[in-house]
Amino acid sequence: MEWLMGKSKGKPNGKKPASEEKKLYLEPEYTRVRVTDVEFKQLVTLPQEIDLNEWLASNVTTFFNHINLQYSTISEFCTGETCQTMAACNTQYYWYDERGKKLKCTAPQYIDFVMSSVQKLVTDEDVFPTKYGREFPSSFESLIKKICRYLFHVLAHIYSAHFKEITALELHGHLNTLFIHFLLFVREFSLLDPKETSILDDLSEVLFSEENREAVGATGEAQNHVKER
Ligand SMILES: [Zn+2]
Repeated sequence: MEWLMGKSKGKPNGKKPASEEKKLYLEPEYTRVRVTDVEFKQLVTLPQEIDLNEWLASNVTTFFNHINLQYSTISEFCTGETCQTMAACNTQYYWYDERGKKLKCTAPQYIDFVMSSVQKLVTDEDVFPTKYGREFPSSFESLIKKICRYLFHVLAHIYSAHFKEITALELHGHLNTLFIHFLLFVREFSLLDPKETSILDDLSEVLFSEENREAVGATGEAQNHVKER
């Protein structure tokens, strides 16, 4: 970690814009790495005894915490200089203020807007009720979708602009695991427009095919069953 810290001083990593770089996150040595063998499909399915909104609320809150944590590990490399716009795989995101005004902002500013507005929502008792007998607002589903969209933008930015730092910290297994879990969850409950997530379709294709390969591996049929950690 020490050399990474040193690197952040002076020139911002000598980094080229993500678009010119080879997509490091698609390299097999990284896509194979996970931190769990859990059956994700089972993990995202709504358990019979649990209310749908409760399930969405608790999972989305957990995703928010994990994505926030994942971003915090590389946030020192995500500055107004290294990431002048909120970009991910050639897509630009703009923040809109409460009055719908489009704001030009850097990636760290955008992510800060995301994190603070999501934090406000998940701790708002009127939106995410935790006390017995309180009901979810009628706007709950659309708010959940909005949160998922923002969280996806953050994940996409980490992959496309900071994957190198993630691998240096050996956190790519965590990131891949989080991404697979998150994507399966939003698909299960149709929380994100597939157009929104299409910028990382190449990655999800590889990750999900790796997942299937792992499953085959479990029955002892797969060759090259690589387990890195
Ligand atoms: Zn950045």
